[in-house]
Amino acid sequence: MDERVGKMVYSHRQWRSCRVQLIRPLICSALLIGLTILFGCGGGSGGDVNPLIVIGLDGATWEVLQPWIDSGKLPALAEIQKASAWGEMESSVPYLSPPAWTSAATGVNPGKHAIFDFQRRIPQQPVIINETAKSRRAQPIWNMLREQGKRVLLMNIPMTDPPDEVNGYFISGFPHADDEGFAYPPELEASLSGYELDQMQLRLIPSREDSILTSYYNQLESRKEIMLDWLANESFDLMWVVFTGTDRVQHLFWVFSDPENPNYNPDQAKLYKDTLLKYWQAQDKVLAEVMAAIKPGTSTLFVSDHGFGPLRYSLKVLNYLHRPETGLTSREAGAVYSLDRGDGCRLYISRAGRDLNAHFSKAKALQIRDKVASVLRSAVDPNTGTSICEDVLYGEEVFSGTYAGKGPDLIIIPSRGYFLMLGDAEPDLELPYLIPHTIKMSGWHRMNGIYLALGDQVAPANRFYQSEDQFSLIDIVPTALYMMGMPIPEGLDGTIMEPIISPEYWQQNQPVMTAPLPEEFRPMTPEEIENLESVPYIG
Ligand SMILES: [Zn+2]
Repeated sequence: MDERVGKMVYSHRQWRSCRVQLIRPLICSALLIGLTILFGCGGGSGGDVNPLIVIGLDGATWEVLQPWIDSGKLPALAEIQKASAWGEMESSVPYLSPPAWTSAATGVNPGKHAIFDFQRRIPQQPVIINETAKSRRAQPIWNMLREQGKRVLLMNIPMTDPPDEVNGYFISGFPHADDEGFAYPPELEASLSGYELDQMQLRLIPSREDSILTSYYNQLESRKEIMLDWLANESFDLMWVVFTGTDRVQHLFWVFSDPENPNYNPDQAKLYKDTLLKYWQAQDKVLAEVMAAIKPGTSTLFVSDHGFGPLRYSLKVLNYLHRPETGLTSREAGAVYSLDRGDGCRLYISRAGRDLNAHFSKAKALQIRDKVASVLRSAVDPNTGTSICEDVLYGEEVFSGTYAGKGPDLIIIPSRGYFLMLGDAEPDLELPYLIPHTIKMSGWHRMNGIYLALGDQVAPANRFYQSEDQFSLIDIVPTALYMMGMPIPEGLDGTIMEPIISPEYWQQNQPVMTAPLPEEFRPMTPEEIENLESVPYIG
């Protein structure tokens, strides 16, 4: 298999249509001096590598942040941007946190690391189980560093529970099967009384807006305190901390600043219209404190796992496919399923040999898939004529590697403002197939995430990089290893983000490659297997 397949496929998709235009004039690098004065001088642990901090800002997009940066509302991010090489970071396909952060931490596509979703099918069994970090089949960067005796400090990276036995500290990220065993070593967990786990609260419950927000702010504060403690008292070669409240608040509170949302209520909006800005301002203050605490000689990479946008209307996939004009028989339409009925953006066609009680052979299932893809590509909003699906991709177009077949048959990237849900198994065709999305969630992921890179290796400062070969999450591991001065294993899908590295530094520091890594395999304990939540199979 061509090692570059995953990357080539990511890059060849035409995501450029949804990008914001952010090319900015180059501003003199003297601004770097201002940043240095404001934030101190960077810095880290000492030793034979350049220490690096990766700061995850889950769901961050320039589309939201840039207007606030430009109007002075996010001063820390503005200063960081002035001193950084920065731009858009393409998410993984699918652009969900579990595959996205796992791609970011392993440098490979889901076909190699084997995490495609929150859940997975068990072939020929009537269950769908939740994924855990033990489903991962590719080595994350912290295991690569452990082998080299390097010390890591990791916190809240999604899809990392149960945590690996690292050389350092590891407070894992959601989903959490239970509220114990989330940190390594166990003594660390014992010292974390009061630490609030990210339980992925993803429903806006009317009248509980304030308590939900309080929880998000508490999590932000407690992660900041731990990060500042680590920066003051712990040595490290790599620190990687993800702030996930930014994603949660955008999922739930987008509606209050989106008059085009059919659930928009002007009275409610008066109360909560500034919620996203206020939360980002709190996050910005945390970044200012963190940057001031970083010691000289430390490089920093800021990344988001995906962008964000409004969520207004949902296509009920089965209701749409069952209409006679699609040309699909009801048996064919009925073979389409998703792992989560509420999310129809990743579809499977039930087929013999893989799915329980399937009627169709693999060849016939692939024919049905072609028809479904074609029908979805032409789906339009009957009220506006807008295409509902920006892209409909086949699994083999985006996944490569041993586990590619584990992923969905079709991945749909909805157009801005739209979403897909599975819909009704026996739909009433008199009812609309496109409905206002529930008030419980009003923002959803987009492909256009962000990055900013800061450090002696990076130049020139304050430059937006728009490369032909768009950077994506799989590039983070090779870039991070390169910036640290570490060898890079062969076999990754991503490549070093060379255009952001200063030419002088590049010339003096040619990348060093090393042998490919063995697959990761951590067997589950009987207790963990028992803890996996089983839900009825849909197919
Ligand atoms: Zn999210």
